[in-house]
Amino acid sequence: MKKLLTIILSCVFACNANAIDPVKQYGQLQVKGSQLCDKRGNPVILRGVSLGWHNLWPRFYNKEIVQTLKQDWHCSVVRAAMGIMIEDNYLENPSYALQCMTPVIESAIKQNVYVIIDWHSHILKTEEAKAFFGQMAKKYGKNPHIIYEIYNEPVEDTWTDLKKYAAEVIGEIRKYDKDNVVLVGCPHWDQDIHLVAESPLEGFENVMYTVHFYAATHGDDLRQRTEAAVKRGIPVFISESGATEASGDGKIDAESEEQWIAMCERLGISWICWSISDKNESCSMLLPRATATGPWADDVIKVYGKLVKGLLEKYNK
Ligand code: MG
Repeated sequence: MKKLLTIILSCVFACNANAIDPVKQYGQLQVKGSQLCDKRGNPVILRGVSLGWHNLWPRFYNKEIVQTLKQDWHCSVVRAAMGIMIEDNYLENPSYALQCMTPVIESAIKQNVYVIIDWHSHILKTEEAKAFFGQMAKKYGKNPHIIYEIYNEPVEDTWTDLKKYAAEVIGEIRKYDKDNVVLVGCPHWDQDIHLVAESPLEGFENVMYTVHFYAATHGDDLRQRTEAAVKRGIPVFISESGATEASGDGKIDAESEEQWIAMCERLGISWICWSISDKNESCSMLLPRATATGPWADDVIKVYGKLVKGLLEKYNK
């Protein structure tokens, strides 16, 4: 009886250990058809949050926060948004940007959480992006934890220009890292996924395309467009989303948010919510008096933060 109890307890322990160590559980990710899969080829949905711009909310770029987001918020992935625009961005001050990004990336590796290295920009900077991602792939590409997001949200660029950019940056990454997943943005704030469906990149493996939604602005139209792309075989990753209006502010539409998440879960799409920051806007999840590292009590988590934490707990626990 004692032996049986030991077996049961060790099984429960093992299951829990798996549940809270996503990279141990899923390993080296791969893309099969439209689906993100684990090392064995089984479908995987990653769910997590994005930190805000490193140059606006640098205090949240620390190693302890990854542990809070993994253990308290049940994140299997964390996105580090390296600002390429706005004052003190990576192009102006690369050493400070890396000083912010490094503890988050390295803590994710240590904690066995997936981490997205996000080139957070609205403008095309091909040579700078190639140099940066080459450097990241060389340094971190052997770790299954790393996901590269090469261009957060294009605004003015055509899909033709973006394809050319993506081919160059992915080519650079693949010199050093043959397999980790690369996320590619599509025109108009990652909404024109139908253009990708008509003409996806060719010749690269483990590439996914990003769709971003803000549920109080984007409803059935963008959901249907996203679903149509997935049904045509396009691998979609929601690398940023909010329950608010597209500005990041305004009302929170919990009903539309629920429809979005239900669609992601039905189609096997990974989703990430924006953002861990303390700005006075409704998509910002924390109050200014929240500590930089967490864990955070409910009274410093704002309405949207509580909604996200609840969703992560429901689907990722
Ligand atoms: Mg690799």
